[in-house]
Amino acid sequence: MELLKKKIELSGEIIGDDVLKVDKFLNHQIDPDLMHEIAKEFVRRFTNTTITKILTVESSGIAPAVLVGQLLSVPVVFAKKKQSLNLDKDTYTADVYSFTKRETCVISVSKKVLSESDSILIIDDFLANGQAILGLYEIIKQSNASMVGAGVIIEKGFQKGGALLRGMGIRVESLAIIDNMSENRITFRNEEEERT
Ligand code: 5GP
Repeated sequence: MELLKKKIELSGEIIGDDVLKVDKFLNHQIDPDLMHEIAKEFVRRFTNTTITKILTVESSGIAPAVLVGQLLSVPVVFAKKKQSLNLDKDTYTADVYSFTKRETCVISVSKKVLSESDSILIIDDFLANGQAILGLYEIIKQSNASMVGAGVIIEKGFQKGGALLRGMGIRVESLAIIDNMSENRITFRNEEEERT
């Protein structure tokens, strides 16, 4: 998605070897027009699939997930990262190792908001080693719902998550795949390869 790649080139900051900071449009300040275009592209890529619910994880997945949910007129569920008194005890849970925080956390979703008749699209901001999406997939399996696939805004193709998930037969659609980041130079995989 060219618009997204331009935005990443313009305002993305490379931190260390493998973290991309996109606080100007996605992870802190949010660009709603860009999020709308991103949502339209996800909907286009998953045309001809039946989606009854969007599932993401708090907090950065929520904005794009809501816009996809709005376009499809389906509810959006976000997994919670902290145990909350408000969340009822009857939950599906999964352990997720956080790439950015370097710690394992438990994500949870109330059993009241997923059902086995659901056909779910996962949306997330980044794909690195695939742990967040695997955690969401685990929760979908516990609920006996089915999963259409995962829509990712930025995939870091030099990390192992994309190959891991696709190797498991999970459909992953990434709007920008970064093959290399170094010294403020970002190399994107070309669109043709993105579709393979
Ligand atoms: P994974 O679970 O695939 O290893 O990492 C994906 C999750 O970690 C995403 O939900 C995202 O919040 C965070 N993440 C991973 N890599 C990056 C990155 O380079 N930049 C930012 N901002 N978040 C990242």
